[in-house]
Amino acid sequence: MSASPIETKDQPPSGSVKTVDWQDFRDHLATADQEGRRMWIFARQPKGRYYTARKWVSYLLLAIMFVGPFVRINGNPLLLVNVVERKFSVLGQMFWPQDGAVLALSLLLFLTGIAVFTAAFGRLWCGWTCPQTVLMEMVFRRIEYWIEGDVPRQRALRAAPWSASKIAKKVTKHGIFLALSFLIGNTLLAYIIGSDALFKIITDNPAKHLVGLAFMTIFTLIFYGIFALFREQACTFICPYGRLQSTLIDENSIVVAYDHKRGEKRDHLHRREPFDQRHARGAGDCIDCRQCVSVCPTGIDIRNGTQMECVHCTACIDACDSVMDKVGRPRGLIRYASLDGIEKGERRLRVTPRILGYCTVLLALGGILAAVLLTRSDVDATLLRAPGSLFQQSPDGKISNLYILKLVNKTVHDLPVELKLENLDGKLTVMGGNPTVPAQQLTQGSVLLELAPDKLTASTMDVVVGVYSQGRLLDRVKTGFVGPRNDASSP
Ligand code: SF4
Ligand code: SF4
Repeated sequence: MSASPIETKDQPPSGSVKTVDWQDFRDHLATADQEGRRMWIFARQPKGRYYTARKWVSYLLLAIMFVGPFVRINGNPLLLVNVVERKFSVLGQMFWPQDGAVLALSLLLFLTGIAVFTAAFGRLWCGWTCPQTVLMEMVFRRIEYWIEGDVPRQRALRAAPWSASKIAKKVTKHGIFLALSFLIGNTLLAYIIGSDALFKIITDNPAKHLVGLAFMTIFTLIFYGIFALFREQACTFICPYGRLQSTLIDENSIVVAYDHKRGEKRDHLHRREPFDQRHARGAGDCIDCRQCVSVCPTGIDIRNGTQMECVHCTACIDACDSVMDKVGRPRGLIRYASLDGIEKGERRLRVTPRILGYCTVLLALGGILAAVLLTRSDVDATLLRAPGSLFQQSPDGKISNLYILKLVNKTVHDLPVELKLENLDGKLTVMGGNPTVPAQQLTQGSVLLELAPDKLTASTMDVVVGVYSQGRLLDRVKTGFVGPRNDASSP
């Protein structure tokens, strides 16, 4: 590669321009040689409006990511995915395993949202907001540029023999990478077990938290492995999202695309040759300087078209725009565009029936989720007949059934609870008295239900019990009541 970003030749050619083998890129991976060995990607540091915008977006996202586990709303974490205790918090709202419908609907909404978003905007998520890209490109790689310099100096350092200076740079870089991986690993752990539990692991006797410390170490090593070594391979070989592109995007999706109509046929820039003369001999605006390739963190050439490896980081747009500025051509040879738009010379996003269909499903799911959330009760109650128990008959003839009561308080306040029999005339007794359910806790107890024989119209009857707190109805549960089977009571 020449030192200048723009390669020129002294003499205009006699007429021929470069013929490109468009299928050649399909035969090999940018990150592997002919023997399948990993080829390290040295990506030049991008500069330009998109890179600057992405930096600001990443500062915001990193702040949210690292502060998230410590922010409380109504005493609950902003986000908690406690799979161990099966407790989840979203924007300070706690969800329990009993909220399975909410979780299932949210997941459906999330997946449909991804489908709609990808169909319309391609991998915008990957380039701007995916934690892997944000951390890799905006944290780890920038530290690498800071310590080792841009690509020519990185290559030189790699080729240089081991010296005190090289060892110092490598140790500093990997030391910082390890420390950052520890921080990221602990942040992930805080999202899973909560920040209080994390502090306990850090400050308490280590012998009491061997499992927690083991996870801390595992997460740290995983993140170090990903960001220091594995890098773009995680997007190419592990993340399933890239592989879904072929099913989700079509020719109307907005992607980072090379305007081949304007760029081809590519040819080097020839000194003193005006562009109209260049176009007249069949050459396009692409001067084949490969700056777009040199900044690509996945090592691909976007001029070959949309590829699975492209994470839409926009680095090639910035690189090409700066080349176009230098040669006096309009920006946007590589830009956000749909493939159909490039063919037709259009720039706007076309709303296709497929996107409309996705949006309809998305709206319907959103509506159902909103309804479920609005009607979600503060207390979730279950009342089931005690396992293995039969009905009892007292000397005065009354029939009784024993039940196990479970109450989940989803609020952040303790709730005094009382139960009332709603559909039958009988006696309901909570063993040990009416309970007070502590905030965000589950309480379990026993309930005895008695009915006079003349109220028993069938051997099995439906019973509806209302759960009240200070006169306010919180939930209604339905259960069964069994009694003796005889002619009078049989259905
Ligand atoms: S697309 Fe732009 S940056 Fe890439 S080779 Fe052509 S002129 Fe250079
Ligand atoms: S092709 Fe462009 S947008 Fe895609 S990953 Fe490479 S530099 Fe980023």
